[in-house]
Amino acid sequence: MSDYISIYKAIENELKSLSKENTTLIAVSKTKPYEVVREAYIQGIREFGENYIPEAIEKFTRLREEFPEANGNVNVHHIGPVQSGTLRKLFGVFSYTHGVGSFSSLGELAKRAEKEKKLIRYFLQTNLTGENTKHGFSLETLLENKNTLSNYQNEFCIWEGFMGMGPSSGDLMETKLAFTKLSNFRKEHFPTLQLSMGMSGDYTMAVELGSNFVRIGSKIFGERDYGTHSV
Ligand SMILES: *Cc1c(COP(=O)(O)O)cnc(C)c1O
Repeated sequence: MSDYISIYKAIENELKSLSKENTTLIAVSKTKPYEVVREAYIQGIREFGENYIPEAIEKFTRLREEFPEANGNVNVHHIGPVQSGTLRKLFGVFSYTHGVGSFSSLGELAKRAEKEKKLIRYFLQTNLTGENTKHGFSLETLLENKNTLSNYQNEFCIWEGFMGMGPSSGDLMETKLAFTKLSNFRKEHFPTLQLSMGMSGDYTMAVELGSNFVRIGSKIFGERDYGTHSV
């Protein structure tokens, strides 16, 4: 089995050297089999990221059966787009979702959290590149609703901040522009909230721009067999 924890620790150290912010490293285990998650857990990784809800439920239910203490000490982050129809399945498995991209799913998430009485922390996904294949709020929409955005929260549903990604092309100049836009937006309008920006190919610039959560898959677990960016 691979030595995931050494890579994880090395990236954590790099994050510390790049930023004064507190930065959480999410190990994105989407598409990787249960055995990989199990091994990473045994080695000491406690923050995982998954896109596909049924796949995550299967792996992390199994992990919590095999290691009952994982019920309290593992955070699973949902990093795919949140859909109103399936978001009820998030509760109990995921501690965070980074993909709330519309007012209807935000309203539904808050309502469900109260009903289930299960805590979920969320990021509003932003569309920073204007690509219409990308899910998420434009910064203009967020600004127009600046004064009411926090009203969706309740005891079980906590707003952590904003998630943003670079363009699908992976172009690093454009990615830097996108991250800079979100970083400035946060600084100016929502300075107490956090940022979820940065993946294997662009996390150093994300962290230099103040990101608090980076979501790293292939650099820790190797290339995936299927599935790349969520759109
Ligand atoms: C897959 C995925 C990641 C991780 O991507 P890598 O390039 O493998 O680090 C991060 N964020 C989201 C939203 C993803 O879908």
